[in-house]
Amino acid sequence: MNTDIADFIRRLPKAELHLHLEGTITPATLVELSARQDRQPMTLAEAESLYRFDDFTGFIEGFKAVTRRLIDPEDYELVAWRMMERLAAQGVVHAEVYISVGVIYMWRNFDPRALEPIFADLERARERAERELGLSLYWIFDAVRHFTVEEAARVFRKAAKMRAVHPSIVGIGLGGDERRTGSEPFRALYGRAMNAGLRLTNHAGETTGPEAIWEALGIGSERIGHALSAIQDAKLLEELKTRGIPLELNPTSNVRTGVCPSFAEHPLRRYFDLGLLVTLNSDDPAFFGSDLLNEYLLAHTTQGFTREELRQLARNSFRASFLPDSAKSAWLARIDSTE
Ligand SMILES: [Zn+2]
Repeated sequence: MNTDIADFIRRLPKAELHLHLEGTITPATLVELSARQDRQPMTLAEAESLYRFDDFTGFIEGFKAVTRRLIDPEDYELVAWRMMERLAAQGVVHAEVYISVGVIYMWRNFDPRALEPIFADLERARERAERELGLSLYWIFDAVRHFTVEEAARVFRKAAKMRAVHPSIVGIGLGGDERRTGSEPFRALYGRAMNAGLRLTNHAGETTGPEAIWEALGIGSERIGHALSAIQDAKLLEELKTRGIPLELNPTSNVRTGVCPSFAEHPLRRYFDLGLLVTLNSDDPAFFGSDLLNEYLLAHTTQGFTREELRQLARNSFRASFLPDSAKSAWLARIDSTE
């Protein structure tokens, strides 16, 4: 029966909206990168040790260490292509992918010219995926909130400037450690990004309470990543529902970083039943040992999502995407006719 449902989930056209490029790099790919670069290449065991963590802080450290191994533009092209192949194999037809531009700058002494050659190779992978895999993909430039506001400004200015040439850059976001910095300091930057035509996403309420989500909404965030703690605040749930704010949920990620006890206890089901615009996502699949297909499957096995409800989750993923309306309608029709 689970094979049946897994096949159905694979056939359903899906969009993934909360996925970090660097979080898709597997230990095996890291070994491959190291073999290109290091006189003494990393072993698989050494690579795997970077993926071991017990909490959110440990996860962030591992994420930074893996990102540090991406050196040449070709490294980015390789990991992007691998990510795209895996997305297509899961029946994902559209993805909106975070690039940790803040971390790219940090490892390159904030050289403003560091990004262009990397981005050119990422675009090459994206165009190839569009041609060969039928996958459409947008990029979201992610800044690290617990660096300084000036560093985030650098990332967002770059996004605004490059967007003029590369329409695949659809928006901006803030990741990093919410416990250290909220959203309010970025209010002016979000306003400017919006005026530049960028869409506004934001991680909020992952390791923090509902007040962090209010704050994110207050600075104009259009989509909320995680929103785990919204469940604690009835007024906030009402607000999210009335405004139809898309939530990018990542249940397995939350379990693995220790902010949610189990998939079964994740508020996904309650949000869905309340009529919120929830989407399922994998966040950093290589770190959390899941992928989008598996998140849908777990929604079925642990929270009793029926076929029709899974279909609704797939519909939500397109409604919440930044695709043009014509593309949304086309995918929604395809979902309706998927058996
Ligand atoms: Zn994330």
